[in-house]
Amino acid sequence: MSAGPRSLNTAILDGAATAARVREDVAADVKRFAARHGWAPGLATVLVGEDPASAIYVASKRRLCVEAGMSDHHRKLPADAGQEEVERVLRELGADPAVSGILLQLPVPEHLDVQALLACIPEGKDVDGLTTASAGLLAQNRQGLRPCTPSGVIELLDTYRVPLEGRHAVVVGRSELVGKPMSQLLLARHATVTVCHSRTADLQTHCRSADVLVAAAGVPRLIGAAHVKPGAVVIDVGIHRTDDGLCGGVGPMTIAMLLRNTLQAATRQADG
Ligand code: NAP
Repeated sequence: MSAGPRSLNTAILDGAATAARVREDVAADVKRFAARHGWAPGLATVLVGEDPASAIYVASKRRLCVEAGMSDHHRKLPADAGQEEVERVLRELGADPAVSGILLQLPVPEHLDVQALLACIPEGKDVDGLTTASAGLLAQNRQGLRPCTPSGVIELLDTYRVPLEGRHAVVVGRSELVGKPMSQLLLARHATVTVCHSRTADLQTHCRSADVLVAAAGVPRLIGAAHVKPGAVVIDVGIHRTDDGLCGGVGPMTIAMLLRNTLQAATRQADG
């Protein structure tokens, strides 16, 4: 997955193949888990409203969850669902022993307080890794459930044996969802990390000094050949529809890591 122009000596990190391998590994571990405990891990997806892209994402997550041998606990709420109603659903799922992990599909309709909703998800079931508790555990480099997109990037880099220790990693983007946890995961792997954002002066110079460059700015084609040092590894996290079709995207890795997180949550719950 490279944002640079393809040439004969450009190697592509194959996110789709890596994601398929992770899903196979998870499915094998789920089988062993079910044989040992007599129940399978369960993923609850909560979708509020009718956003078509969100509906597609949730459908993929549910399908791949079932394919991995896990149980599917979907809750669909109308776009005008009130704060209390959504919080009640999240708490019910939090108390349900058949539910190992809970994913609240974002964005939620604007009238809802997303932070208050996330706070209803117990830390042990926070398979999207987005609650304040999970963010704190990551910031302190303590064990916990990590956000799926950045942990998918790490898995991809590990699969291709990209060295991180002592290397210069540059992350473009500092969102709570992608950029910030990405930079913390790279730091935990002993990379020297630079985080760029919309106020960064001379983005190109920073990017060009990267051994590993992760683009997560949500701006298509922001990173071009002039931003990339020869030999650098580039991961484009953005999903963009352009005139040439879809570009970027580590989408399959994100879902694979969600499944792995759900298994990890179930294992922790089963082991008490
Ligand atoms: P976001 O919340 O919009 O954050 C974008 C970040 O990029 C912000 O930190 C912003 O800086 C920075 N930025 C914006 N314009 C910039 C510029 N011109 N130069 C440098 N930095 C700039 O987006 P996000 O949720 O982090 O998502 C980032 C991308 O990842 C999007 O394309 C999204 O579609 C994609 N994504 C993919 C997956 C997946 O599964 N593959 C999952 C989630 C997101 P400020 O903080 O200064 O505003």
